[in-house]
Order: sequence, then structure tokens, then C-alpha cells
Amino acid sequence: MTIVLAIIALQQGLFALGWWVAGWGLNLSRRAAGHWVVASLAAAVSLALILQRGRWPDLLTIVVANMLAMGGFVAMRRGVQVFLRLRPTDLESGALLAGVTVLLGLFALDAGFARLAVLGASSLIAWTLLRCAVESRRALRAVNDAAAARVVALPLALLGGIYALRVALGLLRPDVAARPLHEDNAFNGAVVVGFMVVGLLLNLVLAYLVANRLVRRLHQLSIRDPLTGLLNRRGLAPRLLREATRWRRKQVGYAVLVIDVDHFKAVNDRHGHAAGDAVLVQLAALLGQVAREVDTVARLGGEEFCLLLPGAELVAAHQTGERICKQVRGATWPVPAADGGGLTVSIGIAVVAGDDGPHRVLARADAALMLAKKGGRDRVVIGP
Ligand code: GH3
Ligand code: MG
Ligand code: MG
Repeated sequence: MTIVLAIIALQQGLFALGWWVAGWGLNLSRRAAGHWVVASLAAAVSLALILQRGRWPDLLTIVVANMLAMGGFVAMRRGVQVFLRLRPTDLESGALLAGVTVLLGLFALDAGFARLAVLGASSLIAWTLLRCAVESRRALRAVNDAAAARVVALPLALLGGIYALRVALGLLRPDVAARPLHEDNAFNGAVVVGFMVVGLLLNLVLAYLVANRLVRRLHQLSIRDPLTGLLNRRGLAPRLLREATRWRRKQVGYAVLVIDVDHFKAVNDRHGHAAGDAVLVQLAALLGQVAREVDTVARLGGEEFCLLLPGAELVAAHQTGERICKQVRGATWPVPAADGGGLTVSIGIAVVAGDDGPHRVLARADAALMLAKKGGRDRVVIGP
């Protein structure tokens, strides 16, 4: 048994190193990673102490070793709570730890308490893991991440189940199951190997949680324009594609409006870049108000925006364009336009037709915008 316990101690030490690198090297979920460094270190030291049983004082190899083992699981659960922004259960964990520590103290004084102490420690660990499985599953399902909920809850519940089984068997077959872990018997062997496998699985799950959040964040960042918060071209593309598919399959059309601020360079030149930015932010909000729930507003770049109107025909799209021009004219802007008057926009419109792909529709709206600029600006032009 000792060699297996030593390998698991090493494994836990490596997990601690991994979480330290994740938290401090890669700056990933540092607070949660910190908890998982503590959890893995506690498990590693606990196992190292168990290996010294009989050689070192019982206070270390029984009381401290088991406190560390339990504390490790409590720290792991707390890390998950921190990560998922759940309310910490410190009072509950503290009370349970204190209770089992008393049992361990009695065991250190009198070997007759061995069974009670083993059952107490195993119950606490089973409870911590099973509660952690339930609360993380609930939290992840609440944010519509059913896949992550399954991936996380299953190994937690499995590991919790191993400890619960240890408690149940300890009550039924105390001679076999309720023996301290370093003692060789078939049941302890199964517990230790189970601990190694599911411990690895558990850390993979925690890594999955962190990676999953990172990927989602990066994706969100990649599709949004940081100034206005609108979708950028990359965010618009799948929406355009969805409409293109609906057009191809069901002949449900769509319209695209390309909106460009008139003489915007002069706004920047006269009032500075910050004032220009403020105008863009306000225009983005105005477009958001004009858009219906089903519409998509995006910033194509610079002072050029796009409004995608699913299901809209030419008349409706034209009316929307005119409404935008009118509202821009009537709005109060942070700075006056270059000529001292109000700000204006030019708009090009295109409606899908024939076997036009989304790029072709956008190009037609762009061409219409050029005509609007040539025609004197502050107007809506329908594409060819
Ligand atoms: P037109 O009426 O023909 O559209 O003229 P314009 O001046 O609006 O067009 P032009 O393409 O010459 O200039 C666009 C300007 O938009 C130039 C650039 O400095 C400015 N711009 C692009 N992106 C940003 C931004 O994020 N913030 C600010 N403040 N200005 C930007
Ligand atoms: Mg412009
Ligand atoms: Mg432009």
C-alpha cells in the first residue's frame, strides 16, 4: 500500500504545481486556483504523513494527517464555490471539521476510537464532495451550461460515492472497511486506487471548468467592439449566414442597411478623438433603439455601422433608414458637426434577391451608400 500512497502523494503535489502555474503563471481564475493549490498540497502532505504512521507521533500521522485530508476536500469545494460565485459554506465546513477533529483526537489517545474516527472523516469527505457535486451542477445549469454541469458533477459524485461506500461498509464490516488507510486489505486497496483515478479525473474537471470559461470569454471578446459594445464583423457574420440560409431554404428575405457618419473626420479634427468616440457610442445606442428585437446592429469599422433586418422587405427597410436619418438629425450630440450644424448619416440599403449570398448583399448596400454620399449625404439610397 505504501508505494501506491507515495505515488498519489506525488500526483497531488504535481496538481498543486499545475494550479500554481495556472493561477500565477497564466493568471487564470487566480482565487479559485489558489484554493486548489491548497487542496492538492493538503492531500499530498496528508498522504506523506500517513506513510509515516508508526514512525512519527500519532498526533501527526493520525490527527494532523486526517485534518489535512479533510481540509483538502473542503478547500477544493470552496474553490469551486469561489469559481462559480456561490455563497461559501465556511460555517458548515468549520463545524464539521471541528467535530471530526475531536474524534481523531480521541483515536490518537485510544486506538478503540479508530473505527469512529475513520467513519467520521470519510463521512465528512463524502458529504463535502456530494454537496459540491449538487451545488456546482445547479449553478452551471442555471447559466445554461448543461454540458459542463454533467462533466463536473459526475466525477465529484463518483468520488463522493467512494467515500460514502466506505462509510456504509465501515458500518456493516468494520473489520475490513473501517481500518486506517495505510493498512493493507482489499477494500483499502480499492479505495486508494479509486482515489488516484478519480482524483486525476477531478483535477481534469476543474481544468475543464477554467478552460471552458476562458474560451467563452475570448469568444465574447472576439465578436464585440470594445468601444460601443456592438457586435463587430466577426459577430455579424453568423447572423448574416443564418438569414442567408433562411432565404435559400424558405424564401424568407432580409435587408441590410449600411450606415456611415457624414464628415466624421472633421468631427475628430475639430473636437478630438475622444469627442468622436462619444459620438460613435451615442450613435450605437440610437441604432439599438431603432432596431427591433430580431434585428442585429453591428459596427463594421470606423464610423460605419450595419443593421440587419430579418424578414424585412424594401418598403420596411427604407422606412427604417429614413427613421434613422431623422433621429440622427434631431438628436443632441456631444459636439456640433463640422459645419456647426447637426450631425447626419448616409445610408445604403440592399434587400436579398435571387441567389445573392450575404457578401453580395452587403456589397450592394455599400454601393448604395456610395451613391448616397455622392448624392449629397444625409439620405437613404436603395441598392441596385
Ligand atoms: P464621409 O462623409 O465621406 O463619410 O467622410 P468622413 O470624414 O466621415 O469619412 P472618412 O473615411 O474620411 O473618415 C472617417 C474617420 O473616422 C477617420 C477616422 O479617424 C475616424 N475614425 C475611425 N474609427 C474611429 C474611432 O474609433 N474613433 C474615432 N473617434 N474616430 C474614428
Ligand atoms: Mg463617414
Ligand atoms: Mg466611412
